[in-house]
Amino acid sequence: MLQLQNYIQGQLVPPTAGRYLPNIEPATGQVFSQIPESDAQDVALAVQAAEAALPAWRQLPAEERGQLLVRISELITRDLEPLAQAESQDNGKPVSLARTVDIPRAASNFAFFGTAAQHFASETHFQEGVALNYTVRHPLGVVGCISPWNLPLYLFTWKIAPALAAGCCVVAKPSEITPYTAFLLSKLCIEAGLPAGVLNIVHGTGPAAGQAIIEHPTIKAISFTGGTKTGEHIARTAAPLFKKLSLELGGKNPNIIFADCDLAEAVRTSLRSSFANQGQICLCGSRIFVERPIYEQFKQEFLAGVASLTVGDPQEEASRQGALVSEAHLQKVLSYIELAHQEGGRLLAGGQRVQVPGRCAGGYFLQPTVFEGLAPDCRVNLEEIFGPVVTLTPFDSEEEVLTWANGTEYGLAATIWTRDLNRAHRVAHALHSGIVWINTWLHRDLRTPFGGMKNSGVGREGGLEALRFFTEPQSITVKL
Ligand code: NAD
Repeated sequence: MLQLQNYIQGQLVPPTAGRYLPNIEPATGQVFSQIPESDAQDVALAVQAAEAALPAWRQLPAEERGQLLVRISELITRDLEPLAQAESQDNGKPVSLARTVDIPRAASNFAFFGTAAQHFASETHFQEGVALNYTVRHPLGVVGCISPWNLPLYLFTWKIAPALAAGCCVVAKPSEITPYTAFLLSKLCIEAGLPAGVLNIVHGTGPAAGQAIIEHPTIKAISFTGGTKTGEHIARTAAPLFKKLSLELGGKNPNIIFADCDLAEAVRTSLRSSFANQGQICLCGSRIFVERPIYEQFKQEFLAGVASLTVGDPQEEASRQGALVSEAHLQKVLSYIELAHQEGGRLLAGGQRVQVPGRCAGGYFLQPTVFEGLAPDCRVNLEEIFGPVVTLTPFDSEEEVLTWANGTEYGLAATIWTRDLNRAHRVAHALHSGIVWINTWLHRDLRTPFGGMKNSGVGREGGLEALRFFTEPQSITVKL
């Protein structure tokens, strides 16, 4: 059976305690690999390796660091197909999605930050006849990057690439639920000639390996993406150690559809924003608010689209919905479907586990599910479900829908559908949401700030925000 290894000091190594965890393929429910169950000892070795590599790495010209990152990007692109297959096997997502979104975006992350490092500049503040103040941005040092299971390689590289570009050395931990592509990445880093210790990948659980990273006194910053509860725990642990924190957390995103929108486009994109990756994208719009004059028409067309989403083996091209990531997560999502019934919701589509015949008989499949008739402030409409479950709610005014849209503890992403430009801007400005899409969804420009307001996070990733996060400004003043 495939046995993954840690990547420490440029080598693939077993965990020091020799313990492994089973890794399950969600589409079959079968164990297909073993992953290192690393602990504080492995993290300490990784930190040592990163510290030893730091002086040479931070002094390397940005152009040379960038060339290595671009080389890694090229290798990811070369291996697009095996990486997409691995991501699909590990996560349960359709291979077609991994091929068109996850893996190309992982390659883009390295290419983008590989070149961004050369464009990164700092400020000068000139005081006429008095002084010249200039700012130098030093790499923070050794940093920790911890990522979730939903977009495994994509979100892992979204942190690692800017950290390396900024001149930091990294100790990174992928989710223990989806570690496979991070392991394949470590092989590509060796092939690319990344100097030993610059990037170290430690596999294992959050409470053991993850906890050791957030507690380690040498680690200067934690870049974390995952659940809000975990983020809270990380903040509580790392803040007294004065670590810099970037926390990208949960969401409960509104999708607001005004009567003057391009309905066909709104329906098509809302199907994606509801159910892409089985609804397991932090940016999915799980609360769909539709202006009353088009509510019934939207509902009919949307439900027709839902009926066409084939649930099946993620390896098959025709499958539009793969498996949920784990049995535990499937049970959590099913418990919210039960809650939606209890809270008075009318089931319009789905709601049941799916038995896919053949090799996938033991897989964690669920029908895409739609409810209506739920109060905007019921638990189903306030709590993050993170699965293929959406609610439809009619609204009568801009004011009303803004109150509902802003009425959760989250503020990650929102989508607005309208042809009225003034309204689009007005509503966008009034939304308490770190990201707003108008007449589109999941459109990404890697230069824009990425992250959430309220309990959806602290700080922003992307572009210069990420390079600023991984560096420490120093102000130097020269008296004239
Ligand atoms: P999670 O919080 O359970 O785990 C995320 C990572 O944290 C994993 O690698 C896990 O091992 C690690 N971890 C757990 N406990 C830890 C500890 N004590 N110390 C250090 N690390 C620890 O989240 P998940 O279930 O993997 O991912 C789903 C969540 O992620 C959802 O809430 C989703 O909204 C969120 N998410 C947010 C974004 C974003 O950009 N805002 C993107 C994707 C996912």
